[in-house]
Amino acid sequence: MNALGLNEFNILKTETNDYDYLFTVEKAESPTICPKCGHMNIENKPFWKHNTKERTLSDISMHGKRVKLLLRHVRYKCQVCEYTFYELLDSVDTNDKITKRLYLHIQQQALKKPFTTIADEFGISNMTVRRAFDDFVKDSEKHRVLKAPRVIGIDEAHLNKVMRGVITDIDNRRILEILPTNLKRDVKACIKSMEGYKDIEVATMDMATGYRYAMQELVPNALCIIDKFHVIQLVTRALDSVRINFKNSITKQQKKLLLNDRWLLLSNQEDLSDKDIVKRDAIFKIHPELLLPYHLKEGLRVVYRASDRKDAYERYYEWEKAIPDDLTAFKGVADTINGCKTEVFNYFLTETKYTNAYTESINNIIKKIEKSGVGYSFEVLRAKVLYGTTATKKPEFGENLRIQLLTPRFLIKWLIENQHLIEHNDDEKKLLEGQYVDVTELMNIINKGIF
Ligand SMILES: [Zn+2]
Repeated sequence: MNALGLNEFNILKTETNDYDYLFTVEKAESPTICPKCGHMNIENKPFWKHNTKERTLSDISMHGKRVKLLLRHVRYKCQVCEYTFYELLDSVDTNDKITKRLYLHIQQQALKKPFTTIADEFGISNMTVRRAFDDFVKDSEKHRVLKAPRVIGIDEAHLNKVMRGVITDIDNRRILEILPTNLKRDVKACIKSMEGYKDIEVATMDMATGYRYAMQELVPNALCIIDKFHVIQLVTRALDSVRINFKNSITKQQKKLLLNDRWLLLSNQEDLSDKDIVKRDAIFKIHPELLLPYHLKEGLRVVYRASDRKDAYERYYEWEKAIPDDLTAFKGVADTINGCKTEVFNYFLTETKYTNAYTESINNIIKKIEKSGVGYSFEVLRAKVLYGTTATKKPEFGENLRIQLLTPRFLIKWLIENQHLIEHNDDEKKLLEGQYVDVTELMNIINKGIF
C-alpha cells in the first residue's frame, strides 16, 4: 500500500508545506480493454497513448494537512476501432474533482458540521459539499420507510422561524420525522404514511386540539395522553406570570429583596437545598401574596403522584377548589385542563408513565444545529437533525480499524442495523441485503490476506 492508500496510483512526487500535501500521481497500470469494441490491450495491438491531461483532485486530509492529487490522466487510443478514452479510475468518479472516499467522508461530516467549515477544511467548494449532502439525503430518504411506533410522541419544535411538528418514538427515544408545519393536516398525513399506523397503541401530545383529532380520526382506539410535562409547564408559566405581575407592582427597593426569585419559585420544591428553602421562605415572609400561587404550582405536581386515576381525579378536584377567583392565571390552567381532562388523566391508565420530556433534549439538539448553520433551508436542517444526531457517532479509537473498506451499501446496512433507517418489509430487506457487501465475508478475505 502506498502513502495514499490508493493502490491504483503510483506516486511520482510528493510536495508539502505547513498546510498542504500535493501528490503527483499516475495510474499504475494501463487499461486492459477498449470500452468501445472490447479489444484487449495485448502485445500485437497495444493501445496508443493519445495525450495526457493534468487533473487536480481533492482527497481526505492527512496529518492535519489538506491533500490534493495532481493526476496525470492518460487518454488512450484503440488501434482497432480508433476510439479514444481516458483510463477509468477506481477511486474517482468520472469527471469528479474529489476522490470517492473524500465524497463519503464529506457526507458524514456534513451532517455534523457547517458546510463552509468542511469546504474550508478540504479546500473544496461549498457547492461540492452541498451536492454530497443532498445525495446522501436523497439516498437515505429512498431507503427510509417509517414504521409506526407503539407509542408515538407528537410534539413541536421551533425550527427555522416556524413551529414544526416533531414525531417521536417514545419507547426508543428517537426522532422519526420533522414536519414542515405543526398543523393537523401535516401531522395526520405523516401518521397515515407510517407502516402499521393502525397498530399505534399510545400517543402522547400537548394540549393542541389538532393532534388529538388527528389521532382520533386515524386510530380511534389509541390511547391519547396529554403529556405531564406540558401540564406542569402550563402551571409553572402561570406562577411565573403571577410573579412577574407582582414584581411590576412593587417598588425598586422591594424588588431588591427578591433575589433569584424566579429560580427559587419555579424550581421543583424537592430540588431546592436547605439554604435555598430558607431564601424562598424569606420571600414568602415579605410577600405572602406569592405563597398560594407557589403552592398551587406544587399542588398540581402532587396530583401526578397519585396511585391511580381515581386518586388523581380526587387530588385534582381538591387542587381546583383551592384556586381563588382572582387568580385568573391559575383559573386559566384549570380551564385548559378541564377542556381535555380525559386525555390528561389517561396518563394514570398505563403502567409505564409515558412522557415527552425527551422532546426537550430534541429541542436543544435542533437549536444547536440551527445555530451552527445560519441560512440553511428547512430541508437541510431537517436532514441534519434526522440523520446527523445519532447516525454518525465516531467510534472509539481502534474500533473498526478497517473503516476504509466501508462502501455506501455497507453504510446503508449499518444504518439499518442501528435502526437509523427502517427497512420496509422482508422483501425489501432481502433486496437491500443482496446489494450489500457481506461484512463477515469481507473480514474473512482480509484475514486471509488477499488484500
Ligand atoms: Zn476499440
